[in-house]
Amino acid sequence: MSAPALHVRGKVLVGPEEVLEEIWVLDGVVSLTPPVSGEVETIDGYAVPGLVDAHCHVGLEAHGAVDDERAEQHALADRDAGALLLRDAGSPADTRWVQEREDLPRLIRAGRHIARTKRYLRNFAWEIEPEDLVEYVRQEARNGDGWVKLVGDWIERESGDLGICWPVDILTDAIAAAHEEGARVTAHCFGEQSLVDFAAAGTDCIEHATGLTDDTIDTFARQQIAIVPTLVNIDNFPMFAEAGRGKFPTYADHMMDLYERRYETVAKAHEAGVPVYVGTDAGGQLPHGLVAREVEALTRTGMSNVEAIGAATWSARDWLGRPGIAEGESADIVVYRDDPREDVRTMADPYRVILRGHAHERSGAQG
Ligand SMILES: [Zn+2]
Repeated sequence: MSAPALHVRGKVLVGPEEVLEEIWVLDGVVSLTPPVSGEVETIDGYAVPGLVDAHCHVGLEAHGAVDDERAEQHALADRDAGALLLRDAGSPADTRWVQEREDLPRLIRAGRHIARTKRYLRNFAWEIEPEDLVEYVRQEARNGDGWVKLVGDWIERESGDLGICWPVDILTDAIAAAHEEGARVTAHCFGEQSLVDFAAAGTDCIEHATGLTDDTIDTFARQQIAIVPTLVNIDNFPMFAEAGRGKFPTYADHMMDLYERRYETVAKAHEAGVPVYVGTDAGGQLPHGLVAREVEALTRTGMSNVEAIGAATWSARDWLGRPGIAEGESADIVVYRDDPREDVRTMADPYRVILRGHAHERSGAQG
């Protein structure tokens, strides 16, 4: 049975400058013209394309993969928050089943993280040595939905600081292999040097990217390497630093420096023209459903409200190759009572969440 037609009325924010007064949702898709007959439910407010959480982990929690029931809670918590398109940035759980579910957000998977042996969170990644990198990248490119996720740097016992995980020549071959397979590459990078290497090796995107400097910002802008800062998770850096301080004081100081300049770093990158997108990193330390908090955090880096909204909606969808609000496209839309261009904090409390044309009630899931 198909859902009733919807009339979304008020301001429909389609792009940075494109605003419609009304749209309809008929048989699950957006229509710019009303239905000729039948029942129509009217929803008044400010509509945006379904939000994108470009860095989260469905089915992953602090100690590793969780069961499908928990993963469903993650996805529902994202949906409640208006995050209707998720780029999963690595998960040991097989979450393909989420893609079969009409009631759950759309999911773009990156396969499982690829990390250096004993140099990442336990139970998360394939842990391998550089000679196997190309092979694992090909494998995960085939397992995922067009993205491969590497861990680019991590604490290194010998130096007591963040250290790179991969020699740049092997990394270059691995990224070329991913591209041959039709996948883009992104990497977890906290420090400075990994960014130099990944840019030289031809990466498409970097997660966190806290170690950007004026030099790498220039390179990233030139190569149009996107970043997903996950500022809501960078708020945990002081905790990571303190946990390591006893054994690794250099690492702790380094993490605190990266933390303290995080807004300035993103501000400079944005200013230079580096594409910046919203991601929360839900699933490691953080619960799901924080997408609006990350939008708000980006406004603290000098992004305008409209730019920060775009980083979670039309710009992010375009980057991921998914449609926004357009005639004949799936109606994945979030409606707010107040204008998010005036105050993005309104995005923390969506009035209606419409996914595949169906207006959902809040599930109340704890993500
Ligand atoms: Zn992550």
